[in-house]
Amino acid sequence: MVTNKKLLPDYSKRRDRLLRGLRSQGAKNLLVTSPYNVSYLTGFTGEDSFLWITPKEVVLLSDARYEEQIQSEVKDVELLIRAPSTTIVDAAADALALRDQAEIWVEAASTSVAQWERLGSRLPNKALASCSGAVERLREIKDAYELNAIQDSIRIAERAFKATSELLQPEMSEKQIADELEFAMRRLGAESAAFKIIVGVGERSALPHGRPSNKPLRDSSFVLIDWGAKKNGYLSDLTRVVFTERPPAKLEKMYRAVLQAQMDAIEAIGPGVLMSQIDAVARRTLEKAGLEKRFTHGLGHSFGLEIHESVRLGKGQDRPLEAGMVVTVEPGVYFPGFGGVRIEDDVLVTDSGNQVLTSLAKQWDEVLEA
Ligand code: ZN
Ligand code: ZN
Repeated sequence: MVTNKKLLPDYSKRRDRLLRGLRSQGAKNLLVTSPYNVSYLTGFTGEDSFLWITPKEVVLLSDARYEEQIQSEVKDVELLIRAPSTTIVDAAADALALRDQAEIWVEAASTSVAQWERLGSRLPNKALASCSGAVERLREIKDAYELNAIQDSIRIAERAFKATSELLQPEMSEKQIADELEFAMRRLGAESAAFKIIVGVGERSALPHGRPSNKPLRDSSFVLIDWGAKKNGYLSDLTRVVFTERPPAKLEKMYRAVLQAQMDAIEAIGPGVLMSQIDAVARRTLEKAGLEKRFTHGLGHSFGLEIHESVRLGKGQDRPLEAGMVVTVEPGVYFPGFGGVRIEDDVLVTDSGNQVLTSLAKQWDEVLEA
């Protein structure tokens, strides 16, 4: 476990790794347009900024609103502030027109078609090439700083959950619970919730992405809560089912099967194991309980600066896990009109296997007594 609080990210090392990766794909430069990737490569946490990177120069293209912030957050990067009258794409084109590269690689996933066409028309003497996933692949392997940040985020999410659990009252609505939980996370130092918190009472727990409503807790014996915190830009992602009294036997059966599937899947996680294989382990366990058809989504995803990053534990994902990846493991089974159970924890792939980063109780006897 990483505990060094003074740990700082090494942005120039990240940029060197990016350039090495690009070179192996035949690319010699990159116009980074994803704000998350700009942040990962420079430390800048604002928006509306591009990063131009070659072996010889690193240029952050931003606007005057961010000038002060960039000076305090970013080091060893040339800063280019665009005039308020130009768009970021035109400013990028103007800057690139002055450079001698004949081929410009551009992040395709975070560049709109309109931006791409505009860039092309402003750079008639250059060829635009599409680059996808180069920075995202680097971001799959978390460094010590990132692991520390994710652990801080998890700690906040867990403490806030415990505090909120103690406040629960029968008349509280899903929306009130979500608001209390978000406020508790902010009070504990989070910038915000990691995503829109999901709270589903009773049959509403069967909606995998249900928005919190005015339905009160007293309408059912159980409630599903899916939440996470954002701390220093890094996220966490957990799900628990909370019981206010003993639920129907059918729900207990679902819970026990989902928990077993989750624990079996976690046990299978390690470097070199295919992502699809972990998903298959969970499905096999649910199949034995006759619930496999009710497991209607992938088993998990990587996260960090964004809640859904490029690693997916699901069918067809035939890449091996690598040490340093952080993934959620979140099997769920859902019966529309009755209810759903999902249990989600955050797991780090280590050199020898894995480490579960989350620690909230989930065993049947523990959650029933709480
Ligand atoms: Zn979640
Ligand atoms: Zn998730």
